[in-house]
Amino acid sequence: MPKTTSKTNPARELVFGDLWEYDPAPETADPKLKQRYDLFINGAFVAPKKGSYFATINPANETKIADIALADAADVNSACIAAQKAFVSVWGKMPGKERGKYLYRIARLLQDHAREFAIAETLDGGKAIKESRDFDIPMAAAHFFYHAGWADKLEHLAPGRKVAPHGVVGQVIPWNFPLLMLAWKIAPALAAGNCVVLKPAETTSITALKFGEICQEAGLPNGVVNIVSGAAETGAAVISHPLTTKVAFTGSTEVGKSIMRSLAGTDKKMTLELGGKAANIVFDDAPLDQAVEGIVNGIFFNQGHVCCAGSRLLVQESVADEVLAKLKRRIAVLRVGDPMDKNTDLGAINSREQLAKITDLAKSGVTEGAEKYDTGCKLPAKGFFFRPTIFTNVSMSHRIAREEIFGPVLSILTFRTPEEALEKANNTPYGLSAGVWTDKGSRILKMSAQLKAGVVWANTYNKFDPTSPFGGFKESGFGREGGKQGLLDYLSVV
Ligand code: NAP
Ligand code: MG
Repeated sequence: MPKTTSKTNPARELVFGDLWEYDPAPETADPKLKQRYDLFINGAFVAPKKGSYFATINPANETKIADIALADAADVNSACIAAQKAFVSVWGKMPGKERGKYLYRIARLLQDHAREFAIAETLDGGKAIKESRDFDIPMAAAHFFYHAGWADKLEHLAPGRKVAPHGVVGQVIPWNFPLLMLAWKIAPALAAGNCVVLKPAETTSITALKFGEICQEAGLPNGVVNIVSGAAETGAAVISHPLTTKVAFTGSTEVGKSIMRSLAGTDKKMTLELGGKAANIVFDDAPLDQAVEGIVNGIFFNQGHVCCAGSRLLVQESVADEVLAKLKRRIAVLRVGDPMDKNTDLGAINSREQLAKITDLAKSGVTEGAEKYDTGCKLPAKGFFFRPTIFTNVSMSHRIAREEIFGPVLSILTFRTPEEALEKANNTPYGLSAGVWTDKGSRILKMSAQLKAGVVWANTYNKFDPTSPFGGFKESGFGREGGKQGLLDYLSVV
């Protein structure tokens, strides 16, 4: 039989029985979007005082979805005052058992509206619908369920001591997991008895503002949750506002550092969840097929827009060729394209700016001497897309081995001994996560203890659970989200 290649992916050689392509399987339900989203302050949707709006687009086709309110310092002030009033008059003194009921109701409502939220998330942010549907939205609900259970048990967090909420918490989140990052922030804050003012990322505000509708439907007292959409200045206004006694930021290390500088000398509590450049380490005794699945999940999940992505593969030299061959075969069948298609593995890159950043770093890999391989798959004519890409012959000094790319680009390095793997893995300013693939339990324990990373996965990757604390070392930030540790960051222990 003559050799044929796939129409959508020329790098993929078709074999017998494979001479067909999937039909499109688009998700078509109604995401119930509005054409214009106002700010959610004191339980109501209100226009920004200056009347400014900005457009949010669908990064898969560059069309405008809606106008989003741009909050300035005066709007942020109104939100903080509403939050303070709600804290003093209702939420701060409500018994935990009652607060838990609201959280539980929010979790159930997110489940009820799950399909609508998944579609809205995919339209606004570009991620594949199967990931919004099966990961982002169910996990967001899970965080509210988990924290609902804690609301009346806070005294068990610090036995023999008393715990108290901070008051008004200012929160700023990024665009990679919009609703999920909101849930990571709002669920523990509310369970602990705080009220919040949250700023979503500029490119992905829709699900945060739809969450305002959920708060209304849940009958949450006015002012407990306030959502102020906007730009960097809006985030800065939330963080510096005198009423926010604690700030929680998730985003880039660069902005995290500037926030730390701006708050130096104040007595605000602070948690920062920042960037990462994780090592995913494969030893020669690892189950290699399973490891390849973990490598693919580690770097291509959510187009690589993942702070804990396994973006540096460290593979033991004796199995490097075998792993690379398996990896190439595996990525040849990844489907890149319309995020709304249920068969799509990699959707759109979140923004033009992010695509430019990924493209620039991938170019630097080539000019600095690494060897680039991508699947050559056909990309949609419109929108922001990037092929799954791997680099071999990478050395530790290359930018692609040191800088966070935040896209579907894997840098592959090799090692000979566990000591060398450890040395290379820890040789980074970041310390958010790591992966270890090996048959030996003792090696897993030894490596996990010596890797300077907040989360270490063993023989798996990118697994999350609300009960498990997540957070960084070094320039990946401080503070934890999830589990008991995450809750304690929203309380003062007296
Ligand atoms: P970013 O530029 O730092 O932005 C994060 C958020 O901060 C956005 O809402 C942004 O608003 C806002 N912001 C920007 N400048 C600000 C300032 N000076 N003061 C206050 N707020 C400001 O990061 P990003 O590019 O959106 O997100 C990607 C980064 O987040 C990556 O480095 C990734 O590793 C990190 N991340 C970390 C975790 C974690 O848990 N450790 C999780 C997810 C992502 P605009 O949207 O308007 O710019
Ligand atoms: Mg958008």
